[in-house]
Amino acid sequence: CGIVGYVDRSGNPAALDVLDTGLSSLEYRGYDSAGVALADDDLTVVKREGKVEALTAALATEAPDDVAVGIGHTRWSTHGPPSDTNAHPHTDCTGNIAVVHNGIIENYDTLKAELQERGHVFESETDTEVIPHLIEDGLDRGCDRETAFRGAIDRLEGSYAVVATFADENELLATRQDSPLVVGLGNDGYYLASDVPAFIEYTDRVTYLEDGEFVRVTPTGVSVTDIEGTEIEKSISTIDWDP
Ligand code: GLU
Repeated sequence: CGIVGYVDRSGNPAALDVLDTGLSSLEYRGYDSAGVALADDDLTVVKREGKVEALTAALATEAPDDVAVGIGHTRWSTHGPPSDTNAHPHTDCTGNIAVVHNGIIENYDTLKAELQERGHVFESETDTEVIPHLIEDGLDRGCDRETAFRGAIDRLEGSYAVVATFADENELLATRQDSPLVVGLGNDGYYLASDVPAFIEYTDRVTYLEDGEFVRVTPTGVSVTDIEGTEIEKSISTIDWDP
């Protein structure tokens, strides 16, 4: 339902605050659960059924407040009832890859059966959870992160905005198909979101992603590529926001 991602570039890492604020700003869309993954040496994943308020309370004791990179999600469930476990982000077997997803993966049951046959253990009933496991599968086969991410997306049928984060990496990888995703370019950091309100209080400079485009966000920049991996020159718009 709602996605927010953040990569700090200020040296004053505030991912927890940015994600928490962003999720609150996306509450108007409606949702049944919320969660975040913060990427430090390890990933910290905290998720709760119910209001963002409940997540915020949990974050105060369960999440580090000095992390530079992370992702957050408000879920409107389509596959698997609302619960702490079915809330996003979802992780792979190693716990080093976390993914948030808006939309529906139509062929998830085929993918899940294939992955389970290869030894992947699933924790949730969501369609989304196949994505981190597909990425893990690519990494296991020796692919670099970006190739593994693209390979995973290539297997999906349906609609999606997907953002992935990795333990010990200052990087977000994302893409979309029939579900919105926008990049925010701030002085303190870069943002990824399903909708501008998630980061409008931090920046009004945005780049809209099109279907089939991939984006890699790091502290040094944002690069957008097409399905073949060719870099795309994107335009930046300034939003005239009157809340
Ligand atoms: N299909 C996914 C799920 O049920 C994502 C739903 C959403 O867009 O929030 O978990």
